[in-house]
Formats: sequence, structure tokens, C-alpha cells
Amino acid sequence: MAFPGKLVVIAEEVSGEVRKGSLQTIHAANELSGGDFRCIVIGESKEHGGDQAAAAGAKNVEFIALPNASDHNAESVAKVLSDTIGGDAVVLMSHSDLGADVGPRLAAHLNGAYMSEVTGLTVEDGKPIFKRPIYAGKALERVEILSNSAVATLRPNAFPTPEMASGASAQVVELTPNTPADLKSIVKDIVKKATEDGDVELTEADIIVSGGMGVGGSEGYKPLRELCKVLGAALGASRAAVHADYIDPDHQVGQTGKTVSPGLYIACGISGAIQHQAGMRTSKCIVAINTDPGAPIFQLAHFGIVGDLHEVVPILTEEFKKVLGKS
Ligand SMILES: Cc1cc2nc3c(=O)[nH]c(=O)nc-3n(C[C@H](O)[C@H](O)[C@H](O)COP(=O)(O)OP(=O)(O)OC[C@H]3O[C@@H](n4cnc5c(N)ncnc54)[C@H](O)[C@@H]3O)c2cc1C
Repeated sequence: MAFPGKLVVIAEEVSGEVRKGSLQTIHAANELSGGDFRCIVIGESKEHGGDQAAAAGAKNVEFIALPNASDHNAESVAKVLSDTIGGDAVVLMSHSDLGADVGPRLAAHLNGAYMSEVTGLTVEDGKPIFKRPIYAGKALERVEILSNSAVATLRPNAFPTPEMASGASAQVVELTPNTPADLKSIVKDIVKKATEDGDVELTEADIIVSGGMGVGGSEGYKPLRELCKVLGAALGASRAAVHADYIDPDHQVGQTGKTVSPGLYIACGISGAIQHQAGMRTSKCIVAINTDPGAPIFQLAHFGIVGDLHEVVPILTEEFKKVLGKS
């Protein structure tokens, strides 16, 4: 299938790995264009970034050295990217923190449209059509662009992760764009919070174990963290639990938290308020553990366990350990 116009993917490489959301974006671009797109990798390792982008299906790979790109001033990254793209194009990025920050600014530089959290992408009558959820996920809209350029950030896990071709390597063209002048602000300092060993990024996780007020306090997350370790899952939370200071706001899923789309979402002691559902309803399989059989989360769940999470979660952890052969 020919893509009408120029298609560009911006992929992020962090610590030697191209982010999963970026691999999915490369795959989506491949499906859309039959491989006819530019892939610009930003990160620190030309070799790792380039080879992984190629293994995911990118044929024309370019690299811009921007170590810790998400720590950069978004205004500066957007300017560097628009200078590199150099004209009308449809640009796809993952809806990561960086994508969400840079995407709209890049669209402004390109004088084009911006679509966030895109979950579907097709070409109809020679025009790209973008599908995205609106009204907290209660409706889907289909958007046709009227401008010559556009930037779309794709929701992580809404598109398949490609099979990585083994031993792929790319002829990567390294680009050295000019440092933008006349920025309106500069980042003076970033103070990073310590993360726990094995913490999995919530928005890209395949499995999420999430806890709400039912955990009963910050100590109540301990058994959920154990289950996360066994499953290689990320830890989520409801806003009520965040507001009660049970857990850090980084973990919040929902309308005013993060939007996630994992293969498996295990909701423990979460009632399933509409604002929570807004952030997780597109999960492929939802399991709810709740003492109240009338909790709204059971309307959404594919599997439900009526019971006390403090009893159920440790049993699940032990059973998963056996099944997965983990001691
Ligand atoms: C503008 C706005 C934005 C919002 N944004 C968000 C958002 O982004 N994310 C979000 O989550 N919420 C959001 N909310 C809040 C939302 O409306 C709910 O208040 C919140 O989701 C409830 O969290 P909860 O399910 O943890 O708590 P509750 O509603 O109190 O539910 C706790 C559940 O735990 C169960 N339970 C209790 N003990 C146990 C046990 N031992 N074992 C198993 N189950 C147990 C109970 O039966 C109950 O169903 C927002 C609200 C507003 C107004």
C-alpha cells in the first residue's frame, strides 16, 4: 500500500533499547506504507538504536544523538526534529512522556494537525485516517487531516509489537542538527526520584497489577508488588489511593492519571469508577478482585474474584510462581 505523502517515524532509544512504544510505531508505519518511511531514532547509541529500528522493520534509519531525550527541553527537541524533517510530512511518535510533550510543538513547527493517543491508522481514498478515543474512552473519533503535515502520537500497546528480525543491522545515517537558538526557556536541573529495582514503565507494560482503596494503606501494596515481581508487571493505582497517600502519583491510572492498554490488568480493591475505567478500559483482559460483588469493576472485567485481596493476591502469586517455574 502506498502512503500518500512523506511518512516519518520518530523512535526513542533509552539505555541501548528502543522503547516498546517506538517499536510498535515502526510496525504501524510499516503496515501503513509497505516500508516506505523515514525512521529517525533519537537517543545515545547509534548502533543499538539503529539495529533495533531495522530489526523492527525500518529500512531508512537516521540517528540524532540526544542522550536522555526526555530530559531535554521539549521546545528544543521539537525544533531539532522539525529542522531535520525539513518539510511537509506525517510524523508518527509513541505517546510516551516525550511524545506527549514534543508532539504538539512539532506539529506547530510543521504547521500541521496534531492527534494524540491514536489507536487506529488506515489509508482511505488515498488519505490517512486516524482513530482515537474521546470523552474518556466512551466514544471513538475518526480524523482526516486537511493540512499538509500532521503529527500523531500512538497509544502504547494499541498497536502490535513487531517480531524482531534476528541479526538485523542498518546503515544508519547520523545527523547533527544545529542547536536551536532563541529558546523561550531552558531546563536548569532535573532531580530524579529513586525507582525500585525491576520497576516496569506503566504505559508500556504487558501486565499491570493495580491497587485501590481496598489495599487499606501503603503496606497493603506489598503483596501486589510481590505479584508484580513474579509476573514482570507494572504497579498501578486508583486516584483515591494516591490521594490517601498510599502510593506515589506516578502509579495513578485513569482520566487524570495514565492511560494504559496492557494485555492483562488485575484490579485489586478498585471499585471501577468511570474515571478509573477511562484509563484502563482498553486492556485486553481485565481481572477484578473485590469483596463487593456489586462493584462496577465487575461489569467491565472478563474474570472476577469476589474475595479479600489480602487472601487472594498471595494465593495468585504462589500459583503463578509454580506455573511460571519461579521460586
Ligand atoms: C475529575 C475527576 C477525575 C478523576 N480521575 C481519576 C483517575 O484518573 N483515576 C482514578 O482511579 N480515579 C479518578 N477519580 C476518582 C474516582 O471517581 C474514584 O473516586 C476512584 O477511582 C475510587 O478509587 P477506588 O476504587 O480505589 O476506591 P473506592 O471507590 O473506595 O473502592 C474501593 C473498593 O475496594 C473494595 N475493597 C475494600 N476492601 C477490600 C479488600 N480487602 N479486598 C478486595 N476489595 C476490597 C471495595 O468493595 C470497593 O469496591 C477522579 C474523579 C474525578 C471527579
